[in-house]
Formats: sequence, structure tokens, C-alpha cells
Amino acid sequence: MNLKTLIVLWTIIIVPLALLGWLGYDRSVKEREMRNFQLQALIEGQLKSVDTSLQNYFANLEEILLQAVNDLPDEPENIRKFLKKRSRIRQVLWFGPEGTRLHPPEKAPLTEKEKQFLERTLGVIPRLDQNMTLEKNKPFPKEPAPGKRSSLSPKSSAPVEDPRNDRGWFVWHSGSELVHFFWRRDPARGLIAFELEPVRLLADVIGQLPATGGEVDGSLPNARIRLIDSSGETAYQWGNHEPLASDTPITLLPLGMPLASWHLEYFAPGFAGDNSLEWFNYAAGFFALGAALLGLGFYLYREHSREVRLAQQRVNFVSQVSHELRTPLTNIRLYAELLDEKLGDEPDSDPKIQQYIGVITTECRRLSRLIANVLNFSREAEKQSATRKEPCRIDDIIRNVLTAFEPTLKAKGIKIRFRGGANNEVIADPDAVEQILNNLVSNMEKYGAAGKRLDVVSEAKNNLTTIKVRDYGPGIPKKERRRIFHPFYRISSRLTDGVAGTGIGLPIAHKLAIKHGGTLTLEAVDKGACFQVQLHTPPAERMS
Ligand code: ADP
Repeated sequence: MNLKTLIVLWTIIIVPLALLGWLGYDRSVKEREMRNFQLQALIEGQLKSVDTSLQNYFANLEEILLQAVNDLPDEPENIRKFLKKRSRIRQVLWFGPEGTRLHPPEKAPLTEKEKQFLERTLGVIPRLDQNMTLEKNKPFPKEPAPGKRSSLSPKSSAPVEDPRNDRGWFVWHSGSELVHFFWRRDPARGLIAFELEPVRLLADVIGQLPATGGEVDGSLPNARIRLIDSSGETAYQWGNHEPLASDTPITLLPLGMPLASWHLEYFAPGFAGDNSLEWFNYAAGFFALGAALLGLGFYLYREHSREVRLAQQRVNFVSQVSHELRTPLTNIRLYAELLDEKLGDEPDSDPKIQQYIGVITTECRRLSRLIANVLNFSREAEKQSATRKEPCRIDDIIRNVLTAFEPTLKAKGIKIRFRGGANNEVIADPDAVEQILNNLVSNMEKYGAAGKRLDVVSEAKNNLTTIKVRDYGPGIPKKERRRIFHPFYRISSRLTDGVAGTGIGLPIAHKLAIKHGGTLTLEAVDKGACFQVQLHTPPAERMS
């Protein structure tokens, strides 16, 4: 198989495969992106609904705590009793409107729990104060003593602050414990802040969420949602799916106040990135198509080889027949010419007979040219042709060709003009030069006879002989100028229709000229066709 066929076959297979592969890949990526996008939206909606239910819980809790603020008694002892009945509230921090601490009392003795409370709380009071913008100018709790501040656990995290200014949440970590303050401030009573019981609060929060083994409803059948606290620990989780330690969540949603430092994480298997099944289907389809195209390629290749073999056989057959025809044809031509000579010598010979013999000779020449072309073409196909160079004069060869064509051209009323300029003896292949000229003049006779004129000019310069063969017929359209040198190409027109030809004359002439170290080109002229042959012709005396 030659390189061109191989490239064509591979192109037939590879290009559609690559194109289909790319299209398939592009589509699958887009589909996956779309699916992921829809699923993400669904999951986010689901997580938001969890957040909303927690927000509702805290809104209710706020109502309860506001009521507790209203119900809070004044005296420390009464406050302590009050707290005992409220399991949600662990301690109360109360600053009067003047900024004096009313509870735990500044003067009266404190309980152990109150002391611990102050210890863990006083460090964050300035932040709590900053966060409460109501009555900004009022002196409020002072900076705690440095000793007290250092007693705060080093694990204390930055508090989460509430944007509202007369009430709000204040959340921070004290050691491993997450502490929630709900505060209320008004000009009459000052600041009252409840420290909530963390265990109870967490239990209540979890109470708002689905049971641990329960399904994550809505989106994927197998999923897990984790509630992650501000220290990054899982506070609670639910759903059937058991994610690996290395798994990353598909979606992450930060919660609203007062759990703003918390977030929800959503895990699910076979999502975002796990597209192995899709890839398997895709690869299987791709390979099936590849196999089909390969099969097609193989079939085309076999058909092509068969056709090439058949064409080769035909060329061989034609060339053998042509070869066989050559000898009898030469004999016919020889005897016809002898007969012509003999009749010419006899004074009372019938001119009609001489005319018949002339036709026989002309047709024989035509057949000889055809056979020479066919043989040359088949030799070319087998790469066996070789030039046989010898001393000769190009002008003599031209004259011989023109003489041979003279009767036919004359019969068509064509005037021949020859201006020779290559009369020196040079080294050339006379057979090749003759065959080139035969083809050109024969074409002129077939296609350019309407111009009634044939100009042949030869010129020799610097080891180069140039021969121009020009007619004044219809010429060759611009777009056909290259194609006429392709084997078997014939311009389809009224001109060629009905004119015998094989389409191998010009390609052979072209190849012979190249073999002769020259070229055959079609020159641009305003009327008719002008072929220019250039041949490498060194002077004869240099050869020895
Ligand atoms: P063939 O003459 O057997 O058809 P050629 O290879 O000699 O094949 O020529 C190829 C084609 O070029 C011809 O079929 C003809 O259409 C065109 N051609 C060649 N010479 C001339 C010319 N002198 N004038 C017009 N057309 C020509």
C-alpha cells in the first residue's frame, strides 16, 4: 500500500473517531456539569431547610428568654432561686444602667458557680459591650483586670456577634465548651445577659434534626449530613451513607445566627468526580465505533487494492497488445511507403490509389504514436523507462515531425510556420523529443485546427533548447491549465467530444521533458494554446 493510500485510510478512520470522541467527551462533560448543578441546587435547598428549622428554634427560644428577662427578679438571692427553676439558663450577668454589676453581685459573697462564671466570662465582656451599640456613650463594664483575662482558656475562640443593638446572641468557646449568651439591653434595667446551659442547648438543637439513622430526604437515596461545630467537630450527623475519612463534602452551608460559626456538610457516594460508569459506557461506545470504522477502513483498503490490481492487469494487457501490434504496424507502414514510392515512379498510376496509400500511411503513423504513448505510459508505471541520448540536431527532429504531419495538417487547411534556431549538434534523446513533439502537434491538429495556423519556434541557449508549439484555436481555459498534465484528464467540451484521445499524451510529454532535464509548460497567450518545451541539451562535442 502506498503512503498516500495509507494516509487517506487513516484519515478516514482517525478524523471521524477523533471528532466523535471530542463531541462525545464534550457532551458528557456538559451533561455532568448540568446534572451536578441541578443536584447541588437541590442539596443546597435541603441544607437551607435544616438551617431554617434551626433558625425557627432560636426565634422561639428568644421569645422564651425575653420573657425570662422580664420575669427576672432584682435581688441576688431571688435571682439564684429563679435560675434553679430554669434548666435552660445557667447564669445571669446583669449590669445596671450606670454600669455597676448587679449580678453576680459586686459586694455580696458569691457562690462557687458564680465565681467560675465570672472567671470564664469577664474576659469577653468588653467584646460583648462593643457589640451592643445602644447608648454608646454610657459607661459600661470596664476592662477586666489582666489576671482575670489570662484565666480564660487559651482555646477561647473569637466570639460570634449579633448585629442587632437591643438584644442578641453572643457566642464563644470557653475551653472545649461552646457558650451562648442571649442579652437584652434597655435604658431602665441596663444589660441582662443569660448564659445558656450548653448541654441542654445542644440537646434542643439536635432535637430539631432528623434521627441519626434516618434517611436524608429529598435528593440522593444515600447521603449523610453532618452538623459541624465551631471547633470543627461533628456535633451531630444523620443519613445512611458512611463517608470515608478522606471524603470531602459535596456541599457546605454555614448556619445563620447564633450558630454562625457552625456549618452543615453534605456527603454522598458516586457524585462529583465519580463518573467511572459513565466513562466505561463512553469508552465502550467509542471503541465499538472505532472497530466499525476500522472494519470499514479495511474493507475500503481491500477494495482499493483489488482495483489497483485490476488496473495493473489492464495496463499490462494493453501494453502487451500494443507491443504485439508494433511490429506488424511498422511492416504495414513500410510496405505502404514502398508502394507509394513505386506508384510514384510509374507515369500512368491511378492518383486515387496513391491517395488511398497516403491514408494508410497517415493512419499507421497515428497508430504508431498511440502505441508509443501506451508503451511509454506502462513503462513509466513500472519505472523502467530510460532515455537513450545520442548526438542529434533538434531542428532536424522538428522538421521530421512536421513533415510527417504535413499531409494531415494540409488537408485541414493549416499553415505550418517553422523558425528554427537549434541547428547545432547536441546530445539528446531523439525518440523522446520526437514523442513530445508528436503529442503536441497531434493535439494541435485535433483541438486547434480551427485557427488554421501552426507556429513552431526553436531556440538554443546555454545548453538549453526551447521549442514553442503554438496554435490559434480555442486554447485552454485557465482553470484547466494544470489539470491537462494529469493522466487520463481530458477537458470535457464540444472540442474534445467526438475527438479520439486517451488523456495520456500531455502527461507523457511532460514526464519525458522532465527526464530530459527540462520542462513542459503551457504559456499564457491571448489566442490559442502555446506549449513550451525546454530540454537540457549539452553540445555534442563535449560527449566522448
Ligand atoms: P488526449 O489528446 O488524448 O485527450 P492529452 O493529454 O494529449 O490527451 O491532452 C489532454 C487534454 O488537453 C485534451 O483532452 C484537450 O482537452 C486538451 N488539449 C491539449 N492540447 C490542446 C490544444 N492545443 N488546444 C486545446 N486543448 C488542448
